[in-house]
Amino acid sequence: MRQIVPPFALTQKILGQQKTGAGTPYRLTVHCLRAERPEGVLLYHTLTGELVLLSHEEARQLAGLPGPVPAVLGELVPRRFLVPREADDMALADQTRDIARRFSKKDGVLTEYLIFTTTACNARCFYCFEAGIQKAVMSEETARAAGAYIAAHCGGRPVHLVWYGGEPLLNVRAIDAITGILRQKGVTFRSRMDSNGYLFDASLAARAKADWGLYQAQITLDGTEDVYNRRKAYVDPQGSPFQRVLRNIDPLLDAGIRVLVRLNMDENNEKDLYALVDQLAERFGGRPGFSIYFRVLLENRGVEPTAYTEEERRSLAEKAGAMHEYLAGKGLLLKWSLPQGPTLRSCWSDDVNAATITPEGRLGRCESHIDKGLWGSVFSEERNEAVLRQWRERRPPGEFCRTCALYPRCARLKNCVIHPARCSPIERAEVELRFRQGILNAYEEWKAGGQGEA
Ligand code: SF4
Ligand code: SF4
Repeated sequence: MRQIVPPFALTQKILGQQKTGAGTPYRLTVHCLRAERPEGVLLYHTLTGELVLLSHEEARQLAGLPGPVPAVLGELVPRRFLVPREADDMALADQTRDIARRFSKKDGVLTEYLIFTTTACNARCFYCFEAGIQKAVMSEETARAAGAYIAAHCGGRPVHLVWYGGEPLLNVRAIDAITGILRQKGVTFRSRMDSNGYLFDASLAARAKADWGLYQAQITLDGTEDVYNRRKAYVDPQGSPFQRVLRNIDPLLDAGIRVLVRLNMDENNEKDLYALVDQLAERFGGRPGFSIYFRVLLENRGVEPTAYTEEERRSLAEKAGAMHEYLAGKGLLLKWSLPQGPTLRSCWSDDVNAATITPEGRLGRCESHIDKGLWGSVFSEERNEAVLRQWRERRPPGEFCRTCALYPRCARLKNCVIHPARCSPIERAEVELRFRQGILNAYEEWKAGGQGEA
């Protein structure tokens, strides 16, 4: 057995090494992802974060468990890859997470902000979760107040901003006002943006880099030209919006801003996305800073709750796997890394250092709940602690979580609108694909460091 990635220091500190029980039958932990390689089998422990490589012979012996631990697998017991047959993996993950949370700092400063500069949009995607939300644009006065609030609540630490909408570029003045105040007050910041890319040009890209600290623009593409133009339904388009968005990617990359293309996949555009990937590979493949990832449009990501049958869910999960392989083969897949520590929070919404800011200057928690669960305002110091507590409430795990390798990395909030009570195989497949990519990347890096030859 070779260690490829050591366990998280914090988890190690909490758990220590597992003692071997004489005569106890052992099995592989539920919290393990495996990946086959020509050299052997990689095992990744989703609770401890450790990655090991087993030889083919060790993997063969592992397949013989549950039972007494063969001598060649003895090292897997203290590392908790092998656990007593009757062990409760879920309880151990819960206890570890509870203790790890107590170790995490709760200084109350806000350093992460997702800012809705406007809820208006020049594209009208049929699946937009903001459909039905009243259109609002952040005024300059509110933007200045937002800048002042951020400066006063970041505790002197660097700030990370996400420009969100609607289409954030429909309100460039708000972005200028917020970043202008932050600069005036000496706050260090950087930012990224979720945009449809339609309004970027060379001069705006250069300004975004210099003035807004923009390091990444995420641009959603749903298909090749005809499919994209039909699904996006732009307001008063000038020429082909698809061609315009593609043209606008170049100046962003030229300015040193990463471009992350997001493909939204469903049964209707899945085949066309392959043609799109080919076009993107030809045009942008090999350009530093250009990468792609994809998401299947889930029931709660814009499609009605009853939209998919179980069979369709399984089929889409398989299609997600195929798309992942295709992107990886083209060298365009966004590079995922393995996590650096245990999972202490679910998302932005239960991160004590994060907040959203609505166009009216109200403070919230979740990008998908623009007008719900609001807990404060940039014009006031008052905080609704009851609402903040609600955002931290977790949804109890389902029985199906008991056998899920991802459980130590998964936390679902009661208030979340995109994660339904049942867990979709599509989403599980997406998360597993990301982990598998992280495992393989870590292994390749380990080999590149020459350690595989030792
Ligand atoms: S909610 Fe889904 S992904 Fe999370 S632990 Fe349960 S089965 Fe796994
Ligand atoms: S939609 Fe759910 S996962 Fe996303 S930020 Fe909101 S609470 Fe978190």
